[in-house]
Amino acid sequence: MKFDCLVVGAGISGATCARLLAEAGKKVLVIEKQKNSAGNCHDYLSKEGITIHTHGPHIFHTNNKQVWNFLNRFTEFRFFQHRVLSFADGLLIPFPINVDTINMVYNTSITTEEVLPFLEKEVKKSSFTNPPQNFRDAVVSQVGERLYNLFFKNYTIKQWGRQPEELSAEIAKRIPVRTNRDGRYFSDQYQGIPLAGYTKMADNMLAHENISIMFGADYFKLGDLASSLLDEGKGLTVYTGELDKFFDYKYGELEYRSLHIEFKTIEQQLYQSVAVVNYPNDYDFTRITEFKHMTGECPTSEKTVICMEYPKEKGIPYYVVITESNTKKREQYMADVKALEKKGKHIFTGRLAEYKYYNMDQAVLAAIEKTENYLKGL
Ligand code: UDP
Repeated sequence: MKFDCLVVGAGISGATCARLLAEAGKKVLVIEKQKNSAGNCHDYLSKEGITIHTHGPHIFHTNNKQVWNFLNRFTEFRFFQHRVLSFADGLLIPFPINVDTINMVYNTSITTEEVLPFLEKEVKKSSFTNPPQNFRDAVVSQVGERLYNLFFKNYTIKQWGRQPEELSAEIAKRIPVRTNRDGRYFSDQYQGIPLAGYTKMADNMLAHENISIMFGADYFKLGDLASSLLDEGKGLTVYTGELDKFFDYKYGELEYRSLHIEFKTIEQQLYQSVAVVNYPNDYDFTRITEFKHMTGECPTSEKTVICMEYPKEKGIPYYVVITESNTKKREQYMADVKALEKKGKHIFTGRLAEYKYYNMDQAVLAAIEKTENYLKGL
């Protein structure tokens, strides 16, 4: 049997495209290297009865109603508002920076109205390039050197294995600075954790009569076999893997950042007061996640599962590294992508295939838009 569409990767991007194509009547074959769906959003129920995020904490958040409604067809979301504390100067301090953060760090009691003038003074005392040229400039220009040094500098060096000056100012946009008392990590309108997990959500997306899945199959090792499964001449390939790999690294290798994630079962009811505590300055890990907080599972059990994230250079590609040289290479690859997509037989979508620091909702939105355009013949 020939398929209309081949989807490479069963992560959140691939599952979104596969579902929409299937619903439009296309026969879809999904090829997934791993033995499970959901890609880097994968989760599973541990023997302690706690849902573990295999590749580190994933908290869904979006302001996009279309994305929220789309995913709600495949899962219910558990109400969850993510809060993060940062362990700095021996204290657990609300992060991102808000009025309470400032009052704890500076031992002041300023009000929300006083935050902006306070930060302006801090920024005035600091040195940086304006307009901001890099991650350091972007943060210092908002909060000044003292808060930058306390919360951002060392975390960023640990996370990326590079100096903050080498990284794009773009990355700083992920972390808001708030003048109010909102202590949440995200302020998006819709937030939550899939009730039965991300893997179940992805499985539900892929459960359609027009979708077949090959697990444990490497698209690149299948070679001609993969394209022979596709309806010749008109078939569509949706690619969600690494951008440089698809083009056999013709413009050189793009850099990705990985994590070694250490999981620990602790014999106590709770380990920490929130789901995630960041460790900017101490230890070799960036953060500790305690999953029970996200899922509400086993609240009275005397066991809890935590994980520590140790950033590393090689391994499963989790992050794209937005430096000048990677951005230049990306542009070269993306010109080829554009040319291929124009011919109407390819879609490149997702964090890896577009080499973009997408959140889950942005990945879903890009997949929806690209698939809809393809179906409309755009
Ligand atoms: N960051 C930081 N200190 C923190 C948290 C984040 O300096 O306590 C910086 C760091 O460079 C990090 C980036 O902000 O890589 C984005 O953080 P986010 O929490 O969005 O990272 P993710 O959840 O994607 O790993």
